[in-house]
Amino acid sequence: MSKVPQITLNNGVRMPQLGFGVWQVPDDEAERAVGTALEAGYRSIDTAAAYENEQGTGKAVAASGISREELFITTKLWNSASETWTRDNVLREFDASLDRLGLDYLDLYLVHWPRPMRDDYLAVLRAFDEIEKSGRARAIGVSNFKPAHLRRVVDETGVVPAVNQIELHPNLPQAEARAFHAEHDIATEAWSPLGQGKGLLEESRIGELARKHGRTPAQIVLRWHLQIGNVVIPKSVTPSRIRENIDVFGFELDADDLTALAALDTGTRLGPDPDTFDWN
Ligand code: NAD
Repeated sequence: MSKVPQITLNNGVRMPQLGFGVWQVPDDEAERAVGTALEAGYRSIDTAAAYENEQGTGKAVAASGISREELFITTKLWNSASETWTRDNVLREFDASLDRLGLDYLDLYLVHWPRPMRDDYLAVLRAFDEIEKSGRARAIGVSNFKPAHLRRVVDETGVVPAVNQIELHPNLPQAEARAFHAEHDIATEAWSPLGQGKGLLEESRIGELARKHGRTPAQIVLRWHLQIGNVVIPKSVTPSRIRENIDVFGFELDADDLTALAALDTGTRLGPDPDTFDWN
């Protein structure tokens, strides 16, 4: 059994607090990387229609021999510039993702981006609600939604997404979004939790904490996420790093460490702003 703790979502479904992300991993490599992650003890996998690796992910899941109930599989509805989302095309895309994954249900289905300029995310959430009620997704959620988008969803559809997956790392701790989520019992899931492995992991303050705890910079950052209550989904295709990134349950940061990490908030995004992003 995996030693990753689970959180309880607002509909009672349990979700591992640490999972494995596969953005930018080609389909054939995803099969290998997800296989390595499952062997290392990960049970939650985060893919998306847009990553074009649902098939490789599904093959690794099938080959693992791990029982379906032990796994937590997330995928996402991709943006479409050519059409407005309607109930029917959302249901069609959902079926296509399940098909590519080779699964008959999902643990979590997310709306990838709100695309507020298209003004169709309320229709998407109503279709998602129908999917959840049918039992084919155990939970539904969103990604890249700002508090204003979420407020509209809650007020106008009555649906409270179980999860909001947003860019979040020590350079962008997203205090306002996290407070909004806490108020509405929405779990915060951090994407690019390691800052995409770029400058963040070379920060001297993180290096000092790594030396203090006898851990790596990536492990310090993942520990920070877990201790402030985020769900994290670090990505790597390197087997030693895949194992390193789940080996974060044998130490704890203290209050001074958390204060030192809070000083890294620069408000800098690596990805686009959800208010203006409409890429397909
Ligand atoms: P990440 O922050 O997980 O960083 C991954 C990179 O960090 C790797 O490619 C590698 O270069 C480096 N790295 C990983 N482990 C390391 C280690 N132990 N030591 C040193 N370097 C290490 O970045 P990410 O892939 O952007 O985000 C994680 C996951 O979040 C994605 O795979 C995807 O599943 C999800 N995501 C979602 C969205 C969204 O819009 N919903 C956007 C981006 C990412």
